Amino acid sequence: MKVYDTEGKLLTSAAGGGSTDHLDDIGDVDVASPADGDGIYWNNANGNWEAKAFLPRAGGTLTGPLYIEYESYLSFGPRVASDSASVRGMLQFQRSRGSLASPSAVQSGDYLGDFVAQGHDGSSYQSGAVFGFFAEENWGTGPNRRGTKLVLQLWQAGTSGPIGDKFIFESAENFLPAHDNKGNCGNASHRWKLVRAVTVTSGDLGFEETSCRRCGEPFRVGDMLALTVVACPDPAGRDGASVRTVPVCRRCFLAGGGPG
Ligand SMILES: [Zn+2]
Repeated sequence: MKVYDTEGKLLTSAAGGGSTDHLDDIGDVDVASPADGDGIYWNNANGNWEAKAFLPRAGGTLTGPLYIEYESYLSFGPRVASDSASVRGMLQFQRSRGSLASPSAVQSGDYLGDFVAQGHDGSSYQSGAVFGFFAEENWGTGPNRRGTKLVLQLWQAGTSGPIGDKFIFESAENFLPAHDNKGNCGNASHRWKLVRAVTVTSGDLGFEETSCRRCGEPFRVGDMLALTVVACPDPAGRDGASVRTVPVCRRCFLAGGGPG
């Protein structure tokens, strides 16, 4: 049953005797002062239909921030889906110099777009991580240059910030720390199983072993060491098909034999 108020407007809240199922005429909605481009939405907090700027304005360009808010569920996100073998869902960031109406080429170092993760610090929302896309060179249509790099920015724990570049993925297939002589690849409890490289440089080649693999004696500063070849499983599971070298003390080396 439809229930109307004294002005003939459809009552939409259950408490008022109506139902949202019966909202079948846009003229039934009583919005105080809608603005151009506003959309009508149901505000569950106060049980009213209200107007809000959801839609693009001014020639299709959104002139204000577009918020997608969802507070009641543990997870929520936009879904960009495709069931096509050749068309994929995507989110696009577009950046130019000049103006939107008359764009010109981006230059080396220009931001192309960001994914930003923010958290509330008790006072306001702040950025904790940014995955940014940068022009790696001046773009141009002649030589068709479109070099791009990815930069991961993080707020470092235990510091007063600010958020800054931490890791760089260059288009030449380089993966770099953002600063020289900074950061580790793996640690004592999170080790990579296998690291392979054609060349390891620069500086001294060092080992973390603190004792001889054969006799167990601890190494001391100034000890001369030898490398002993041992078998190790290779990624294909052929035990013994690969080898690696481990340091042993000079006494065990002169005594000969394997690493024990
Ligand atoms: Zn030894």
